Amino acid sequence: MLLIAAFVVTASAPTPGSAQVPRPSDCLARFALPPAATKSARDMTLDEARDVVVSLVRDRVVTLHTRTVTFDKTCRITYPRPTDRLDITESIAGVALVYGPVDRPKPYPTRRLDHRHTVALARLAAHLKAKWGATAIRHLGISAGKGGNNAHNSGRAIDLASVIGKRNGAPYTIDVWRDWGRKPRLSRKARADAEHPRFRLLPQETKNKSAPAPNELFLDIYEFATREYSDSSTKPGRNGDPTEIGTTSYVLHPDHPYPRLAWDHRDHFHLQIGPARREGRPPRSPQK
Ligand SMILES: [Zn+2]
Repeated sequence: MLLIAAFVVTASAPTPGSAQVPRPSDCLARFALPPAATKSARDMTLDEARDVVVSLVRDRVVTLHTRTVTFDKTCRITYPRPTDRLDITESIAGVALVYGPVDRPKPYPTRRLDHRHTVALARLAAHLKAKWGATAIRHLGISAGKGGNNAHNSGRAIDLASVIGKRNGAPYTIDVWRDWGRKPRLSRKARADAEHPRFRLLPQETKNKSAPAPNELFLDIYEFATREYSDSSTKPGRNGDPTEIGTTSYVLHPDHPYPRLAWDHRDHFHLQIGPARREGRPPRSPQK
């Protein structure tokens, strides 16, 4: 017993010259939740979003795929920088990000994510997990390619195709194409009576208690998107009241009012932060 105690004391004693240098894990543990964590992801500056991402790494909500967070000797973050784009593992907030056909999607690490989108994705995954028991989000692309000409290539968008989960112990998949995009549109009479006249899915009797009703799940994703992603504006701080599903919005889906956009998004939601094209000057915080 005495020998073990002696060993522990010796092993934990600081080595000469290194006593002042904190370990990265200590810096991470001490990293305070940034005040910007209360903001919508679309309204954060890159600097604010980077700090929120580091707090999510600390809380194991986000895991970096290829690198780790690093600090200087005053515990200031040296990686990732606000302008860096992140590679994260195939799981975020305990929800897998999967890609591929609806019956055989596979998890893949996500590359080159903008910090603001990392925050939004973590919130989306946590929300779908808490509310609907989601275990995976199937997507048709988050970031892709090396160009910087659109929201996907800039790591600021997701094409969300299905939510996969478990409810009351039973697995389910709710798919944008199968459960929404290929369904018939509402008749004029049905539209006149509907609470959301431009959304073709009416409230359903939920006979199958082990899966969410598609209309409720899709409406919920839409409402989530109007809070965290570009909705009526692509500029930070400029989104007013959330839009109603089926009206003009940067949130794209099978019932978007522009027929071409509705057709192009018949099998997925497109959610983006910032503009659809190149973001000339991403928002930065004033240098301290
Ligand atoms: Zn898209």
